[in-house]
Amino acid sequence: MASGPRRGLAVTTMASRRQFIVALAGACSLGPIVVWLTGRSSTSASTGHAFPIQKSDAEWRKVLAPERYRILRGHRTERSFTSPLNSEKRPGLFVCAGCGHPLFSSRTKFESGTGWPSFWQPLEGAVGTEIDRSWLMVRTEVHCAQCGGHLGHVFDDGPEPTGLRFCMNGLALEFRAGSEA
Ligand code: FE
Repeated sequence: MASGPRRGLAVTTMASRRQFIVALAGACSLGPIVVWLTGRSSTSASTGHAFPIQKSDAEWRKVLAPERYRILRGHRTERSFTSPLNSEKRPGLFVCAGCGHPLFSSRTKFESGTGWPSFWQPLEGAVGTEIDRSWLMVRTEVHCAQCGGHLGHVFDDGPEPTGLRFCMNGLALEFRAGSEA
């Protein structure tokens, strides 16, 4: 009879301990997942690289419209089929919307059908890349070599002559007609 409450206490303690262990295991296993979902690790020359154009976060927020800031500085992706640059067919240059640096010639633009402006080659030295391990994928992130602004990703399913597909956020770019490189 007297062991009733004591047994109840023991059960409670064991339950608490089990909950604690489960919580600890959860925390241990979630940690890498959280890092995996949000992680981006530089493996290219951009590692520790100080870009020629440097601005504080407050300065970027001041010069960029919120939707451009979200992509260029926040590494987000615009919704597909929303950019007017998808249908841009005129000769000209696509420059970085953050700093104006020329990135792609209209000569290398192609219709990928993805809903994002796509190119098979950037201008020489215009962009840098790094490995992006966010959202349970391993992708190659592409950024402006001058300001480090996030532009999009590059994939190996593009057309000849490079076989590459630079899949860009239209909001990360501005088009300048008539100045084709
Ligand atoms: Fe830039």
